[in-house]
Amino acid sequence: MNNDIEIAQQATLKPIGEIAEALGLTQEDWQPYGHTKAKLSEQLIHKYENKPNGKVILVTSINPTPAGEGKSTVTVGLGQALNKIGKKGVIALREPSLGPVMGIKGGAAGGGYSQVLPMEDINLHFTGDLHAITSANNLLSAMIDNHIHQGNQLNIDSRRVEWKRVMDINDRALRQVVVGLGGPKRGVPREDGFNITVASEFMAILCLSISLEDLKERISNIVIGYTYDEQPVTVKQLQAEGALTLLLKEAIKPNLVQTIENTPAIIHGGPFANIAHGCNSIMATKTAAKLGDYVVTEAGFGADLGAEKFLNIKSRAGDIKTDGVVIVATVRALKMHGGVSKDNLQTENVDALKKGMENLEKHIETIESFGLPFVVAINKFPTDTKKETDYIHSWCEEKGVEVALTDVWAKGGEGGIELAHKIVDKINSADNNFEYLYQLEDSLETKITKIAKNVYGADGIELSSKAKSQLEFYEKQGWGNLPVCMAKTQYSLSDNPLLLGRPNGFKVSIRELRPSIGAGFIVVLTGDVMTMPGLPKKPAALNMDVKDDGRVVGLF
Ligand code: ADP
Repeated sequence: MNNDIEIAQQATLKPIGEIAEALGLTQEDWQPYGHTKAKLSEQLIHKYENKPNGKVILVTSINPTPAGEGKSTVTVGLGQALNKIGKKGVIALREPSLGPVMGIKGGAAGGGYSQVLPMEDINLHFTGDLHAITSANNLLSAMIDNHIHQGNQLNIDSRRVEWKRVMDINDRALRQVVVGLGGPKRGVPREDGFNITVASEFMAILCLSISLEDLKERISNIVIGYTYDEQPVTVKQLQAEGALTLLLKEAIKPNLVQTIENTPAIIHGGPFANIAHGCNSIMATKTAAKLGDYVVTEAGFGADLGAEKFLNIKSRAGDIKTDGVVIVATVRALKMHGGVSKDNLQTENVDALKKGMENLEKHIETIESFGLPFVVAINKFPTDTKKETDYIHSWCEEKGVEVALTDVWAKGGEGGIELAHKIVDKINSADNNFEYLYQLEDSLETKITKIAKNVYGADGIELSSKAKSQLEFYEKQGWGNLPVCMAKTQYSLSDNPLLLGRPNGFKVSIRELRPSIGAGFIVVLTGDVMTMPGLPKKPAALNMDVKDDGRVVGLF
């Protein structure tokens, strides 16, 4: 059987102009970026303001194995399937980060016969958006250090600079660093650190902005740290917002590509869902909703992370109405939740599967509690047995849950036709009683507690003394009415990655908070979660190469 990159390399791509034209775009709406990629105008959502939006389908999943459970694959496959059943489906995805590409998890361009192309470009540097975000972030760091070095007019307390440098590589050695060493000519020494680019506030801002003006306004509001008398210092005070917006003037434009079956896909922004808000840009989703009858979009990891933040943060900021949800489940992850070790997931084990169903059950309850219609998609792997997929099917039927066995990895859109019909029917027939989980007026502590109890199934939260005093300080600053962006392990519903299935009787430990005032949320760090990942013992990078003729190998 061919692997993802071999399948991708055999595909025939249309010139990107043909894809744009089929979407009804005119020449001023897009600019080519090579033969098979394009940048779309950031004005499209404004140009089509009065055009009704297509229906928005959010793809989420259960808590995954480290390899991922196929949300991107199902998103792409469902988009292709919708087109097969005569609906105009447009896909909206996140841009991959080099962290997981070179690390453990792999790319984020889908898989098998449900991929977005050219997958090598998309997984590597694509159209340079992540480079631009990294540069903007680090220009701000340089301007902060320069300001302190040049006399520190703003009275910035160098021990209280919250702003971190970033890079788009998993590099644990950079988590904590000291900068400005080497004497008076080399700056003022202070502790600093690196986050991965996709966890940066600039990434979140790019994803939540709806125009260049909005982008600049959000950048101006970034709080970089505090003065000696503990007053917040903003980018506006540093007068850096102009240059920082300038660096992002192309990155703010959504990228257009196509799938293996030439279905249009808009790929833009790439925050992780465990340590950031985990959704592609508002601009990507809204543009797709203007261009298609159906948008299929994903939010990272399980419904406890990406979907919660899609619904509470992104939808609120972008005024996006979600019409239906697909919850992806796999036999292998359910068996893992039922206690099977990672090395034995390929062996049939219906008893473990039965036990693991409680993880899916919790995610179903979460989506139900938001009042949204949904369908469960069993993402079929070649190693699944009929007994196993039949069991999930009958479990869902017994509970009155709509379910579709989905084989888009092996069969492309054809393998997603049942899912496409079922989600379209659901959207058109079921009630949509969407409700936010919390109100903006709730205190920060109430918001965190509601998520912990209702989405994670916890008994409550436990605040560190640092988190307690930060909560008090943030409320005093007037930041209490912002949504919260939870940073939590993706492997468990709890904040402890080892608690699989559906843990209960636990409290979520809240370690620390970070203000992302420009993005418009407060980041809440739980458990031991890190905003700069490390590489695993055998990083995927070890398998990669480029041949003398330019052919890429080993990229999954
Ligand atoms: P997620 O978006 O949930 O993280 P992806 O769609 O990126 O997951 O898939 C993760 C990996 O699993 C990819 O390498 C993909 O090719 C592979 N994969 C996904 N679905 C299947 C499937 N049904 N059969 C075989 N491999 C699959």
